[in-house]
Amino acid sequence: MSIKPYLYSAPAGLLKDRVILVTGAGDGIGQAAARCFAEHGATIILAGKTKSKLEAVYDSIVSADLPTPQIALIDFAKAEADDYLEIATRVSEQFKRLDGLLHNASILGQLSPIEHHDVATWYEVMQVNLNSSFLLTQVLIPALKSSKEPSVIFTSSGVGRAGRAYWGAYAVSKFATEGLSQVLADELNQVKVNCINPGATRTAMRKSAFPGEDPTKLLAPKDILDAYLFLMGSDSNGISGQSFDCQPK
Ligand code: NDP
Repeated sequence: MSIKPYLYSAPAGLLKDRVILVTGAGDGIGQAAARCFAEHGATIILAGKTKSKLEAVYDSIVSADLPTPQIALIDFAKAEADDYLEIATRVSEQFKRLDGLLHNASILGQLSPIEHHDVATWYEVMQVNLNSSFLLTQVLIPALKSSKEPSVIFTSSGVGRAGRAYWGAYAVSKFATEGLSQVLADELNQVKVNCINPGATRTAMRKSAFPGEDPTKLLAPKDILDAYLFLMGSDSNGISGQSFDCQPK
């Protein structure tokens, strides 16, 4: 029987005392996931590039009396090796482990035929959507291995599973993200590694990809998070190297 993680109903306290890093935590799905993980008991490291947005999420978590999060300011388009190492060092020194890592940050880049795709945009999309996930994961593997039940979630897309015209670097970065997730899962026995496709969700990215669409017909980020909770918590233990949808087709 195939698993449908979007039907999951998380118990209260599912992520109690866990330390989870979420990238792109200042907006859209990342913001909602960070808040939701905190509501289930986790201490969140809010990683992203816009300080004011991360501070707003920080404030909303603290004012709801949830575990005090931390902010890790990083721009994946520009970050260098030391910036990734600084995050890993902070995690190890302050928490001694990392229980969860949600790779969520991405950019759409340019919807264009490959023939006319802007080269600089291609590189930037690959850097933000793919290379940063590799670089961040690599430095955090030791902290993940120090957790009792570590979970890594990569974020893919429908266009990361079947090629579609004009989705350019974004689609290719998502195919590669699925590959990175599978390779990592095969290498790491003690770390659960899976990939997630959020499906059409009401965010700024979706609006820029489909400007003519009626956003009220789409689910909000907070309504697609059951699969995220399932994969982050203990109820998915033993499941690794898989790719899941967050909404029914
Ligand atoms: P948003 O554009 O709403 O949010 C993207 C997040 O990524 C923001 O927090 C943004 O930060 C962050 N980000 C962008 N560039 C960088 C950077 N250079 N460095 C650090 N952080 C950065 O997108 P969604 O919430 O819609 O998307 C979340 C994930 O879900 C993505 O991986 C996307 O590909 C995937 N997805 C979304 C779908 C949808 O319908 N919404 C469908 C399928 C997949 P800031 O706001 O500060 O720029």
